[in-house]
Amino acid sequence: MSFQYQYQTGHEKKTKFTCLTEGYHGETIGVLSVGSVDLYAKIYKPMLMDTIHMQAPDCYRCPCEKCRDSCNVECFEHAEKAFAEYADEIRVIIVEPLLQGSAGMRIYPAIYLKKLCLLCDMYNAILIADEIATGFGRTGKMFAFDHAGVSPDIMCISKRMTGGYIPMAITITTDKIYEAFYADY
Ligand SMILES: *Cc1c(COP(=O)(O)O)cnc(C)c1O
Repeated sequence: MSFQYQYQTGHEKKTKFTCLTEGYHGETIGVLSVGSVDLYAKIYKPMLMDTIHMQAPDCYRCPCEKCRDSCNVECFEHAEKAFAEYADEIRVIIVEPLLQGSAGMRIYPAIYLKKLCLLCDMYNAILIADEIATGFGRTGKMFAFDHAGVSPDIMCISKRMTGGYIPMAITITTDKIYEAFYADY
């Protein structure tokens, strides 16, 4: 959807997906390409898309030696650098908001998401929130992104929607993305 959105809005060159290291977004071929957990992705590497993996925040072993409650997400420089380097190519970034589950429940500050949202606006990239594990109140608010006071462009929800009784998932977009599919290109 994000690929076609960029195409429909005249950004044919924006073809790259970006993700965080140690991220997990499922096990079908598309999402394995934006997952960084070798346990799932390793043997499929020859089939995967070429994506950009940005260094994820790691508050447990903070490389900047800061504290999660008081830092200014100094580690965000990795995102800024990646966006500056691949400015014309990055079309989308997908994240697990607030915590990376498969990485070991690695929690990071909400301000990281706010900064990421602003960065995406600046570079005209789509922000996808994979709220499959975090949605429906699991982080204390309805969605993890609510902690940041910003909204993603696309949101994936699943698991808790049916409590696992029915395999069901929903992909939600803003009107801006929905409307672009009616554009005449
Ligand atoms: C379980 C999970 C997925 C996979 O969801 P499917 O609907 O099975 O593809 C993706 N992302 C996260 C964060 C998950 O926890």
